[in-house]
Amino acid sequence: MAGSILVVEDEPAIQELVSFACSSAGYEVRRADSVGTAREAIDRELPDLVILDWMLPDRPGIELLRALRTDQRTRGLSIILLTAKSAEGDRVAGLDAGADDYVVKPFSPRELVSRVRAVFRRRAPQFSGEALSYGPLTIDPARHEVLVEGRPVKMGLAEFRLLSYLVGHPERVFSRGQLLDSVWGDHVFIEERTVDVHVLRLRRALAPVGAQALVQTVRGLGYRLAAPGGQ
Ligand code: CA
Repeated sequence: MAGSILVVEDEPAIQELVSFACSSAGYEVRRADSVGTAREAIDRELPDLVILDWMLPDRPGIELLRALRTDQRTRGLSIILLTAKSAEGDRVAGLDAGADDYVVKPFSPRELVSRVRAVFRRRAPQFSGEALSYGPLTIDPARHEVLVEGRPVKMGLAEFRLLSYLVGHPERVFSRGQLLDSVWGDHVFIEERTVDVHVLRLRRALAPVGAQALVQTVRGLGYRLAAPGGQ
């Protein structure tokens, strides 16, 4: 699956250009035209990445950037700052405030999309829209396909998303709560044991190709994708 992007831009033509470029690249796009409306959109549903204009009508975008970086819920958001400010001092201020990247207007939509992809590749590879592989596993989000040593594996959508997330962050241990927030979305209220049900289904799906041990239980902590060949 490709990630969701919140485009925060007050100039309609640029908002349209950025939104069109991102949705053409397969990302799900939502839009806001001020810091206030962006805040509401983020409160409602956490996007996977924010493209944030600096000069907005109510407050500077960089204030929102700083606020997002201090809040536990939004601290890990991928954020690309978009602005006409090209002075070195502004770029430094933007990056120091926690932007993952900085794109100066006027920009080419193709370059912006490739920067979006680069940020996803670095921070949340499961949303990059590109194939991910780890050990014997290959996941192709565009074709919604999982291969183990070249053999296709069938699984449900929740299992596919869960596996994509784990493959995007191999060998890291995630609690059930973290997996719920990251895979199901942090505004979805479902019980933590739902994660156990989907892990079980995922292992069952991987069993016919002998890959069920890749999804490891870490007692008392949660789950992780095991190192290939390791136990
Ligand atoms: Ca603006």
